[in-house]
Amino acid sequence: MKKRLFTPGPTPVPENVMLSMAAPIIHHRNPEFMEILQQVHEDLQYLFRTTQPVVVMTCSGTGGMEASISSLFGPGDKVITVNSGKFGERWGELVRVFTGNCVEEPVAWGTAITPERIVELLREHPDARGVCLTHSETSTGTASDIKALCAAIHEESDALILVDGITAIGAHEFHFDEWGADICITGSQKGLMMPPGLALIAVSERARDIIEGFRHERPQYYLSLKKALRYHADDDTPFTPAVTLIIGLSEALRMIRAEGIENVWARHARLAAACRLGCEALGMRLFSSSPSFAVTPVWLPEGVDWKEFNRILKTGNGITVAAGQDEFAGRIFRISHLGYYDEFDMLSVIGSLEFTLKAMCVPFEIGSGVAAVQRAFLAD
Ligand SMILES: *Cc1c(COP(=O)(O)O)cnc(C)c1O
Repeated sequence: MKKRLFTPGPTPVPENVMLSMAAPIIHHRNPEFMEILQQVHEDLQYLFRTTQPVVVMTCSGTGGMEASISSLFGPGDKVITVNSGKFGERWGELVRVFTGNCVEEPVAWGTAITPERIVELLREHPDARGVCLTHSETSTGTASDIKALCAAIHEESDALILVDGITAIGAHEFHFDEWGADICITGSQKGLMMPPGLALIAVSERARDIIEGFRHERPQYYLSLKKALRYHADDDTPFTPAVTLIIGLSEALRMIRAEGIENVWARHARLAAACRLGCEALGMRLFSSSPSFAVTPVWLPEGVDWKEFNRILKTGNGITVAAGQDEFAGRIFRISHLGYYDEFDMLSVIGSLEFTLKAMCVPFEIGSGVAAVQRAFLAD
């Protein structure tokens, strides 16, 4: 059976990217590798829409989040975090570990924080040193308006703006410089069409000044933005990098440049819209009031058991989707279209939902989901 992955990380890896990683290993301190890293650094600036450095760290996305918090803030620093799902919650956990002074704003799952609310929080906490946001909250498939949030924060305060862009980069329009973010992070196994293992972190001039200005040792060693930035200036890394993954990344970034970042964003918006229409045509309700272009969360139909639904999808259709998390476990599921996906992938996943609903005796009109997806694409 042909297996198809529809999870928001890891995501499918194109064949040419896999093949590029099958070449014999090279040494990281020789010119051949440093040339590759230099090109990767340039292409990452293109991806994040920035002239600032974007460092590559050998760790998953969370390592990039930890490096950012531990490099920018010290004990006692007040940081506001927005908790609208599992990953916003993670910002709060990291701030509590490294500063012990977290103002966590809870937001209902499936909704996004408003710029007005952020301004209120900053007025209540004028001493906040940073604000941590999530562009695409993967656990709830919900996107925030990062452009408007950044503008509102700049208007009100000098707090640093940290953006978890882990499932937004490559799926949602994002301009690091123009919007005035200070940190933005992504991970290789999300929109970049790569296996897991790398975190990519854009760092603003303002953030670099703070990092450089610290006089005391931070409680960190490996996940240090200060070290990573020092070596970045020479297209180098402080420790042995994941050489093979960086070679793969150079190929993946070449593909993104060839397609054009605006076209990559537009493709994600188009696939997400078609996915939503397909699910609704099958009588399923959408979960998010502000849907992400990376992942579509859907309520399971009334009376449908998640374990059985997932078993049929996986073993009967070769399709892997993501489960709901926390209080939505067994109540929603999530279909990813982040990274290496096209129109025909959407027909496959909605077609497999039809097979599964039929097998579970849920009433719907056969072909209605697939037809809605086709109409979405062919009406364009
Ligand atoms: C996947 C993800 C993370 C965590 O990344 P890991 O690579 O699993 O450490 C953080 N934030 C968001 C929004 C994610 O989707």
